[in-house]
Amino acid sequence: MSTFQIDFGEARRSKVVGIDLGTTNSLVAYMDLTGPEIIADSEGRRIVPSVVSLTTDGNLVAGEPARELLLTSPERTVYSVKRLMGKGADDVKDEVKLFPFRIDPESTGVIKLKLGDRTLTPPEISAAVLKQLKENAETALDAVVEQAVITVPAYFNDAQRQATKDAGRLAGLEVLRLVNEPTAASLAYGLDKRQDGVIAVYDFGGGTFDISILRLHDGIFEVLATNGDTHLGGDDIDNLLLRIALEDLASEWKTDLSTDAEGVQRLRRAVIRAKEELSFVPETKLAFDYKGQHYQRALDRAIFERLIAPIVERTLEPCRACLKDAAHTPEQIDEVVMVGGSTRIPLVRAAVERLFKSKPHTELNPDEVVALGAAVQAGILSGDVEDKLLLDVTPLSLGIETMGGVVSKLIHRNSTIPASATEQFTTAVDGQRNVLIHVLQGERELVKDCRSLARFDLKEIAPMPAGFARIDVRLLIDANGILNVTARDARTGKEQSVEVKPSYGLTEDQVEAMIRESIEKGEEDLRERQVREARVEADNILAATEKAQRSDAWNDLSEPERQDVESAKRGLIAAYHGSDHRVINEKLEALNQATHTLAENMMNTAVRGALRGTKID
Ligand code: ADP
Ligand code: MG
Repeated sequence: MSTFQIDFGEARRSKVVGIDLGTTNSLVAYMDLTGPEIIADSEGRRIVPSVVSLTTDGNLVAGEPARELLLTSPERTVYSVKRLMGKGADDVKDEVKLFPFRIDPESTGVIKLKLGDRTLTPPEISAAVLKQLKENAETALDAVVEQAVITVPAYFNDAQRQATKDAGRLAGLEVLRLVNEPTAASLAYGLDKRQDGVIAVYDFGGGTFDISILRLHDGIFEVLATNGDTHLGGDDIDNLLLRIALEDLASEWKTDLSTDAEGVQRLRRAVIRAKEELSFVPETKLAFDYKGQHYQRALDRAIFERLIAPIVERTLEPCRACLKDAAHTPEQIDEVVMVGGSTRIPLVRAAVERLFKSKPHTELNPDEVVALGAAVQAGILSGDVEDKLLLDVTPLSLGIETMGGVVSKLIHRNSTIPASATEQFTTAVDGQRNVLIHVLQGERELVKDCRSLARFDLKEIAPMPAGFARIDVRLLIDANGILNVTARDARTGKEQSVEVKPSYGLTEDQVEAMIRESIEKGEEDLRERQVREARVEADNILAATEKAQRSDAWNDLSEPERQDVESAKRGLIAAYHGSDHRVINEKLEALNQATHTLAENMMNTAVRGALRGTKID
């Protein structure tokens, strides 16, 4: 009798984490028995820079090691990839001019970045950061981490949300929910415990500024409005100080450091260190040693504040616009929440306090609050925390193209989600059988000024005189902000629906292919599949060639032409049983070339035959 081995080992626990996937920095947190906690890496670092680098031995590294490589191999290192998520190559033409890394010139639609000898999409790069966070969490919690809540800016559109989900999948994480960053920050502060109130979330990070106004009603969050500036953040302060330091250096060292990429990066770091210190102390030194030379400047807060005042001022206009959109005065705002590392700057705090006429929340670390809130949401979804209802808002209107290239809006901007809307449309032509449903996003009236999200056909509707058909189109945005569109012929009940795949996003197949490629062992499978596919192709062309050889067309070939075909055939047959799909494909191509004239002859014969069979009445 055979016995089975029994594994008495306890299954590793599985945990759901919350992730803030930021433009500059990313963090992972989880829900402890006492509350949400940030998870540090094995060296105690709580913040993972959102930087990814391809090392010279071909490994993708993320976080602090990648940030180091920004100094020595900037052309193989990517930062701020969040700006490229869900965007098409055309969308980011201006943006990429500022980056040291290159966009693959052949990338159309989905952007591909060229790092060394590899081309990678933005979700693949974000996935490297997520993998690092997943690994940190698994080590720290001694648990399996396969599910996560990830935060996104409230203004992220469908394509950007999809791309974020793709990144999660590529990192081996099931994304249970995408949560808007301001909502997460409010959760971290436990503001849901209030009964009612209006909350402003002011998020001033590394490269972006966002302001959101949320309403809390019976413990339910509702985002009333969002605004911001996608190119305003701590980076602008750094650039300002960097420019001054470079000029200063030029006169002191009599050298132009600005053409020395590594020198500039190192000086940038020194500038950032000084800036961050000034949030805590009234004066500091900007010190910089490079190639044996030494530079030092005293910097005090008064000078610093004078320099950055215009930058801080630029955050206030979006705040006023957001208040207006939400139809609230500053006095009607009950709580202000500060998010983002740059809100540590005392001048920023003072400006916000003045505008909203109340003291903002700064008790939690502003660069950690979003991750903490994501962990709270993770706790809710994993059943560790009592359920709360979260409502978010859609940042742009959604509609359908109607006659004359006009957009009919179904769901208006700043509607709370989940949201759905149905509208009835009709046909324009007598007996029309198909209706093209074209889904658009944006605030403008004309199709050409809005962003195209999807097109599909509702086929075989009941033929009717123009204007008589009744087509119900329903748009539904789920809790993740992902759009579902259904079109239904009201007479026949025939229905067609799509989950909107953003025009610039990745297709299901592409994501599958990337997952396959990202699993080391999967490489073999992939090779095997490529060989099989090449063989199927070879079978087809060999069969076609043999068929042609039995036809009259074969006899029309010259002797050398026939020998070419025979030799190409032998070549393909020899490669057929090999294990390199590239060789098979090469021989396939050769046979294709050799049979070119033969194929043409066949075609002519076929055409002649067909003409002979045609009857003309
Ligand atoms: P993001 O949300 O864009 O990923 P963070 O919220 O982590 O970014 O903010 C990063 C920015 O915060 C950087 O520009 C960083 O220099 C800045 N920052 C961090 N700490 C301080 C500080 N003590 N004083 C001023 N700025 C700070
Ligand atoms: Mg952030």
